[in-house]
Amino acid sequence: MTKLRLAIVGAGPAGIYAADILLKAERKFDVSIDLFEQLPAPYGLVRYGVAPDHPRIKGIITALREVLDRGDIRLFGNVRFGEDITLEDLKHHYNAVIFATGAIRDAGLDIPGIDAIGSYGAADFVSWFDGHPDVPREWPLDAASVAVIGNGNVALDVSRMLAKHAEDLLPTEVPDNVYQGLESSAVTDVHVFGRRGPAQVKFTPLELRELGELRDVDMVVYDEDFDYDDASRAAIASNKQVMVIDRVLQAWRKRPSVNNAGGEASRRLHLHFYAKPLGVVTDDDGRVAAFRWERTRPDGEGGVVGTGEIREVPIQAIYRAVGYFGSPLPDIPFDGKHGVIPNHEGQVLDEDNRVVPGVYATGWIKRGPVGLIGHTKSDAMETISHLVKDQANWWNPSNPDESAIPALLAERGIAYTDLDGWHRLDGHEIALGEPHGRARIKVVPRDEMVRISRD
Ligand SMILES: Cc1cc2nc3c(=O)[nH]c(=O)nc-3n(C[C@H](O)[C@H](O)[C@H](O)COP(=O)(O)OP(=O)(O)OC[C@H]3O[C@@H](n4cnc5c(N)ncnc54)[C@H](O)[C@@H]3O)c2cc1C
Repeated sequence: MTKLRLAIVGAGPAGIYAADILLKAERKFDVSIDLFEQLPAPYGLVRYGVAPDHPRIKGIITALREVLDRGDIRLFGNVRFGEDITLEDLKHHYNAVIFATGAIRDAGLDIPGIDAIGSYGAADFVSWFDGHPDVPREWPLDAASVAVIGNGNVALDVSRMLAKHAEDLLPTEVPDNVYQGLESSAVTDVHVFGRRGPAQVKFTPLELRELGELRDVDMVVYDEDFDYDDASRAAIASNKQVMVIDRVLQAWRKRPSVNNAGGEASRRLHLHFYAKPLGVVTDDDGRVAAFRWERTRPDGEGGVVGTGEIREVPIQAIYRAVGYFGSPLPDIPFDGKHGVIPNHEGQVLDEDNRVVPGVYATGWIKRGPVGLIGHTKSDAMETISHLVKDQANWWNPSNPDESAIPALLAERGIAYTDLDGWHRLDGHEIALGEPHGRARIKVVPRDEMVRISRD
């Protein structure tokens, strides 16, 4: 029976689901899969994106772990495609590769002052609070007033993590350095800005509602944002999700807050709609001093137009949460406009739109950085359905022997981690948390993760 030696690059949900679906697929060949991951630990943004106070979503790791534990997938962690292993290497040892490298960078926001001191990308802050090994351990949290630009779930995660009292994160897997950083935060007001109205937001009701449950945080919404036009009213009437969002916001309008001389919380989370970012105002030292925006109004078709009215709020820090963006990989086609690997249903395409033999993509790097973890499963199904049928396009490796890869990595002096190593690190983190009644305490420094994994 023929054998498919498959390399998957990226051990986030997309890569792991692809492995699972292929192993369960009806096929006329044997399969052996090696999963390469640049971090010493698997699970991508489930470990390093999903906020620590979302244990239900973090729990998806249990299902992903079951896939890895099946026994027929090898994990090579701490191995970066493009540096530690190349496309040429993969062609020598495999029949095909699937790239599932996701997205970790922030999309840009092109407004004056966005590079000021105190202006941050949401993705960097997320990486910090989730203990990503490649970002600094310390995060400046000396700002009392902060702006968050964006109306998606990442903007809500960032706002919630900024506004939440650090003690309320203690039962979660929040890393120690993050807890300490947040504990000393000077924040009192978090202002979230969206270009359009409440009926056009991208966040989901559950994540929105959660903000209203934060201890000692008042939600502040502004009456002027609720003068709905016909398109907004129609969206509220016809879309259950929008209806729930409106209901949550309407309830907050009635709560005591600074708007109606009520509200006693020590922190406030303000939601501003119809606000088009114009720029970040800086002080003489180049530090963030204010956020400037133009008030917009509905254009009657679900969009907005500027009103010419310019406003400003004093702030000392600003976070842009306007989306993630994929990164190019050496020797692999890349669409720099959309931040994805160009592909047709997962088959990677070259610049002339021709299928590149043996090279596939799945997950956020295939489709762009939108959608939930569950969506990466349908992505993987589509990609695998092509891989299974594409036998004529597979590579003919000169050395498909399974022992060749560990030998190659060892020869290059790469301290790779494997599945047993991950179990060791996982157990270690859980044990660190146990005496404190915490789910786990994440190990953050890369060298420590590698040391514990390879012990
Ligand atoms: C802040 C945030 C919060 C989120 N919260 C939720 C939520 O609550 N619920 C939900 O359903 N979804 C949530 N999502 C979405 C979810 O994380 C994504 O849908 C999913 O992670 C995408 O999976 P992926 O495997 O394509 O990419 P990723 O999860 O990014 O995984 C890609 C993997 O590839 C690795 N990699 C990258 N480059 C290389 C390389 N050169 N060599 C080797 N390995 C490489 C990365 O290290 C990473 O492990 C959230 C996303 C973000 C950003």
